[in-house]
Amino acid sequence: MRLEKIKLAGFKSFVDPTTVHIPSNLVGIVGPNGCGKSNVIDAVRWVMGESSAKMLRGESMADVIFNGSTSRKPVGTASIELVFDNSDGKAGGQYAQYSTISVKRQVSRDGQSNYLMNGVRCRRRDITDLFLGTGLGPRSYSIIEQGMISRLIEARPEDLRAFLEEAAGISKYKERRRDTENR
Ligand code: ATP
Ligand code: MG
Repeated sequence: MRLEKIKLAGFKSFVDPTTVHIPSNLVGIVGPNGCGKSNVIDAVRWVMGESSAKMLRGESMADVIFNGSTSRKPVGTASIELVFDNSDGKAGGQYAQYSTISVKRQVSRDGQSNYLMNGVRCRRRDITDLFLGTGLGPRSYSIIEQGMISRLIEARPEDLRAFLEEAAGISKYKERRRDTENR
C-alpha cells in the first residue's frame, strides 16, 4: 500500500483545491518559511483521524479550515483525501480487493464532520482500523516529527513496547481483543 496523492481543499493555507502527487518512495517538500510544508503533514494526520487540535498546531478543530487572508475570504469547509495504491493487496481483510483506496475527511464550521472510504461514508473507527498494524496512522511512527527520536530513546518500556507492537503488526489484534472484552 503506497500513498499516491494528497488532495487538499479549504485546509489551513490550501484554500483552492490542490493535489500533491507522491511519485516515488522518497519525496522532499521544500519551500520558504510559512509556505505550507508542515500543513501538508498536518493534513495527513488529520485525515487519518487525529482528534487533538494541539497535535495539528491549532487551538480548536475549526482552525484547520482556511480562515482568510488579506485577499481571500474564509471558507466554510475543509477536506482532505488520501489516495493509496493497494495493488499489492497489503491493506487486509475487506479492503484487499481494492487496487485503489481513498480515505477522505471533511469538516465544516457548523461542526459537521464526515469520514469517507472509497466515497462511502464510514466511521472514524473504520479509517483507524484500516491503518492499524501498517505503521501509518495519526500518531504512528510513520510520521516522525521534531523531538520524536529523543522521545523514543527516552521512552518508558511500556511506550516503547507499543511502538514495537505496531511495527510487528500485533496492535491490531490487541485492539480487537480489547473491543471484544468490552462488549
Ligand atoms: P516552516 O519552514 O517555518 O516550518 P512551513 O512551510 O512548514 O514553514 P506551515 O507551518 O505549514 O509552514 O504554514 C504556516 C502558514 O499556514 C502560515 O502562513 C499560516 O498563516 C497558514 N495557516 C495555518 N492555518 C491556517 C488557516 N486556518 N487559514 C489560513 N492560513 C493558515
Ligand atoms: Mg514547518
